[in-house]
Amino acid sequence: MIQKELRKTLFYRIVLLSITGFVIIIFLFSYLLYRYELNNAEKSLAQRNETISYFLSSYFSKFYMSVDLLSRDKTIILAPWLDEAHRQEALEKLLLFQKSIPNVHYIYAGYINKYLLINGYVPPIDFDPTVRPWYLAALRSAPRTSEGVLYREIKTKEPLFSISRVLQEENGTITGVLAIDASVRDVKKLLEMKFGDYRTGKNFILNMNGDVITFDEKNRALGKEILQKIKNIIGTKREIHGSLDFGDGNDILAHYSFLDNLDWIIVTTVDRSEILYPLLKKALSFFVLFIIYAVFLGKFLSNVISREILRPLGRLNRQVEQIVRGENTSDKASTYPSTEIGSIAENIEHLTANKLYRKNRELKQINRKLQELSSHDELTELFNRRRMAEELRREYESALRYGTNFSLILFDIDFFKQINDRYGHQVGDEILKEIAGLLKSSTRKTDIVARWGGEEFLILCPQSDVFGALRFAESLRILVQNHVFSRKIHMTISLGIAHFNQDKDTIEEVINRADINMYKAKRKGRNQVVS
Ligand code: GH3
Ligand code: MG
Ligand code: MG
Repeated sequence: MIQKELRKTLFYRIVLLSITGFVIIIFLFSYLLYRYELNNAEKSLAQRNETISYFLSSYFSKFYMSVDLLSRDKTIILAPWLDEAHRQEALEKLLLFQKSIPNVHYIYAGYINKYLLINGYVPPIDFDPTVRPWYLAALRSAPRTSEGVLYREIKTKEPLFSISRVLQEENGTITGVLAIDASVRDVKKLLEMKFGDYRTGKNFILNMNGDVITFDEKNRALGKEILQKIKNIIGTKREIHGSLDFGDGNDILAHYSFLDNLDWIIVTTVDRSEILYPLLKKALSFFVLFIIYAVFLGKFLSNVISREILRPLGRLNRQVEQIVRGENTSDKASTYPSTEIGSIAENIEHLTANKLYRKNRELKQINRKLQELSSHDELTELFNRRRMAEELRREYESALRYGTNFSLILFDIDFFKQINDRYGHQVGDEILKEIAGLLKSSTRKTDIVARWGGEEFLILCPQSDVFGALRFAESLRILVQNHVFSRKIHMTISLGIAHFNQDKDTIEEVINRADINMYKAKRKGRNQVVS
């Protein structure tokens, strides 16, 4: 029972302890891993962001150079107002550039008189270039090249990307706008490319107004927020790229960089949860694995402890209990293990058994002694007065029931006081013992002898008649008289006899009569029997 409880407790404690330890470790470990993964993600973001920036810069640099070159060409600046041959020349220049730069959709110029200079494209009727987004963008950025403008081609609705610049005469008069359109498909493809393993990874382009100039409408609100944050950052240090957090509770990590010519910001983002989530999953699966491990560890350790310590102790407990109850403990079917605990248990068992055995023996001896003391006289080892009274009562009752007879012989040592006075109490005791020895050797088996008082002895002779008792008393008197006691002392005794009378006697009366007869013998001169 106790053993089982302890084992259970041990099991739970071990499991609890291991799990607690592991929770602490896993927390630390997860935190470090999270920092590490965060760092990785930031690096990955920065790398992707810079790749895109680099690609876009080189992608658009040819466009810028072309816009710059063509917008300075006199035939192009004044094309609508020149003759047909010169206009053709201008068109050929545009075509040459258009063919030599990859990814170019169209190169064209719109003029203040609504004329459109373009190869292989017939504009719709009422087409007014001066209200198109690329035209307006150039006016806004004049005299510089406009930042990229996104718009849809009027007929095919294809999304296009336009870089434009005003055409100016030498005196500064603006005659129109030169524009290069590129298909945004390539740019979009580039932006949509995933990076790393991040499902939530995104790229987009912001202009300096905070507009998201990719076609991702969902990110419009975020664009403003990000721009604000970037402005806050670059307000203090003018860096062309950096990291930031945004969104609710900064749950999105971002890296940004400025594109040199375009005044664009390339932003690359990833959700923080995507970094955290796999970590949590990893930690959880570790945790589950560890719980299984802890349970096995607990089971194993509690088994070992139970087998090596608790079970031997339990067995010892049972053995000791049996020993204490005085039961047989010799069943050696299960022995103790050969460990220190086993040896201790064995020793304790032996010790208990030995101790208890010795105590038992002592107790038995004491008991025997006590019993003897309660019924025997210590000096002479004859029955004492108490025991003799019991024997007398029993004999008396038996005599009444069966109509039998018995006699009592009471005797007293003559002049015993003188022995004590002359030789000392010790010698007196010796004499008493010798008298008792004489009595034991001369009485019949059925006679009961007791020390009745100091130097008075009483003999109960069952089923004896008057003459038998008298003969026995006489022989006893002669035996004592002739006996030489230690120190060559001679002693005599005076004896009184009484017979039980069926009709009128009580046991006290019989004793009393014996006493009276004994005193008669004393008075008559001692060393005689009175019946
Ligand atoms: P008598 O009986 O013949 O009249 O003379 P007595 O000297 O025996 O007189 P009494 O009966 O008066 O004295 C008995 C003495 O026995 C007194 C007591 O000191 C002694 N006595 C009684 N019991 C013991 C005992 O156990 N040991 C010893 N050494 N002496 C005892
Ligand atoms: Mg006496
Ligand atoms: Mg006496």
